[in-house]
Amino acid sequence: MSAYWNDVFGGAKSLAIGLSITAREFFKPVITMQYPWEVPEIPERYRGHIELVKNEKTGKPKCICCGMCMRSCPSGCISLVGKKPEGEKKKVLTKYELDFTKCSLCGSCIESCNFGAIRFSKDYNLASTRKEDYVFDLLKRLEEQG
Ligand code: SF4
Ligand code: SF4
Repeated sequence: MSAYWNDVFGGAKSLAIGLSITAREFFKPVITMQYPWEVPEIPERYRGHIELVKNEKTGKPKCICCGMCMRSCPSGCISLVGKKPEGEKKKVLTKYELDFTKCSLCGSCIESCNFGAIRFSKDYNLASTRKEDYVFDLLKRLEEQG
């Protein structure tokens, strides 16, 4: 009989402890987010994949196609092409591709750019099972951003 009452009191004590923890947590501020409906604030120094930066005056990429970023990348992730339109003196960027499967986010490309033409993006929710989805056309991406 005493084993029976021990079980009853043990169960009641455990229930009371559990409810007190629940009550305490219930009144604490909520720190979880309803992802993906709620988007977190991305820290200023967050390193997403690199992205091209637009010249706000012309609406075109700041990149002058010098190729320094491509040469400084230790993993060979960047592939870019610039062409001189007829009658123009400067090259225009026609392709800027990033193979993110090889990128270590080291930042060497960004440091090597003297024109502030690339930076880390704030993209954080990349997900795919296909390797090809991680080869980004950054020029197209910039154009789509408007
Ligand atoms: S270093 Fe800068 S300007 Fe030169 S190709 Fe790379 S992004 Fe363009
Ligand atoms: S962050 Fe580093 S690894 Fe990634 S593209 Fe730039 S230089 Fe290459």
